[in-house]
Amino acid sequence: MSSDAKASTGPPATRIAVLSIFPEAITRYSEVSVLGRAIKRGVLALDVHDLRDAASDERRSVDDSPFGGGAGMVLAPEPAFAAVEMFAPPRPLYLLSPSGRRFDQQMAEELSQLSGGFSLLCGRYEGVDERIVEHLVDGEISIGDYVLAGGELAALVVIEAVCRLLPGALGNDASATEESFSAGLLEYPQYTRPAEFRGLGVPEVLRSGDHARVAEWRRAAGLHRTILRRPDLIAVRHGLSEDEVRLLEKHGYPLPTARAGEDGSPVTGAEPLEERDQQ
Ligand code: SAM
Repeated sequence: MSSDAKASTGPPATRIAVLSIFPEAITRYSEVSVLGRAIKRGVLALDVHDLRDAASDERRSVDDSPFGGGAGMVLAPEPAFAAVEMFAPPRPLYLLSPSGRRFDQQMAEELSQLSGGFSLLCGRYEGVDERIVEHLVDGEISIGDYVLAGGELAALVVIEAVCRLLPGALGNDASATEESFSAGLLEYPQYTRPAEFRGLGVPEVLRSGDHARVAEWRRAAGLHRTILRRPDLIAVRHGLSEDEVRLLEKHGYPLPTARAGEDGSPVTGAEPLEERDQQ
């Protein structure tokens, strides 16, 4: 199955191939919203291949029982190797796996810049034959420390996060550069109409029409939110700059009690969940 790019006058589409025993799970989701639009606009070309097409027996089997015994089945090497030889998906080819590199926005950016595209192999069952890991794929990607039944949802997470970064995929390309994680921080709080809802208002600055003030408030509010909810992100950037401290003070936000990078401890000051919701 190939969702090939329609007529496009822009740069060539980024090609992503997926190998799965449930190709329809990928194709159905890719028909809607951001992915569907990106494919129609010729920004993304998605090739979805059925691993069973590469099976050599009549039952189209792709799994077998594990050597050494144990629960469940294992994705066998023959159909996986045969599928890669048959479909020649773009490299690098990544196996979705809980053992892989943790997927994050930085990795999404790296993948979005691969001009030749990349491919994703979805595991199933209890796991995949280790020879696939060692001799077929170029790397492994995990979407988090939990176990899914198969790699399809993980593949969709990767594809959608990457697709949003491709020029022309979103209505406004700035949307992808001004949001959470793009600058190592969480995004500022968002509001829409009505300005007053059940007695709940909107920060005055957002209705001021003063773009410079709005931009500064958003920077301060995003920083404050990151300190409260994800102090680890602040610690990774080695704490706050002098400029950021001044910004927080100017907007009346409390400073973290310890500044990461100064005494080696992470930034503290996280509030309980119920207080976060008041932000
Ligand atoms: N027994 C394996 C283990 O303990 O690592 C888990 C196998 S899982 C039931 C089946 C497949 O789902 C995996 O081969 C992988 O392709 C996919 N999968 C499960 N959790 C995942 C995760 N967190 N990230 C990426 N893929 C995952």
